[in-house]
Amino acid sequence: MSREKCFIEQTATMNILLKVTNVCSECYGDFINGSTIFYDLKACRYICELCHERLLPLMSSECVVDNDDLGLF
Ligand SMILES: [Zn+2]
Repeated sequence: MSREKCFIEQTATMNILLKVTNVCSECYGDFINGSTIFYDLKACRYICELCHERLLPLMSSECVVDNDDLGLF
């Protein structure tokens, strides 16, 4: 059974901070190098850990979070 991927868990590297974004798309808080961030596959945006925790219960129960370290992306 394949479950729907909603978020990719990543570490905020300098590459992401410089080339993609350095603020959360939801609360506009700054991302800190080395912190955990989440890529929202539905909205194509990065959000912080706090916003992810707040949004996750609102998503589909089929929603899964991938960890980018596993190389599934
Ligand atoms: Zn946020």
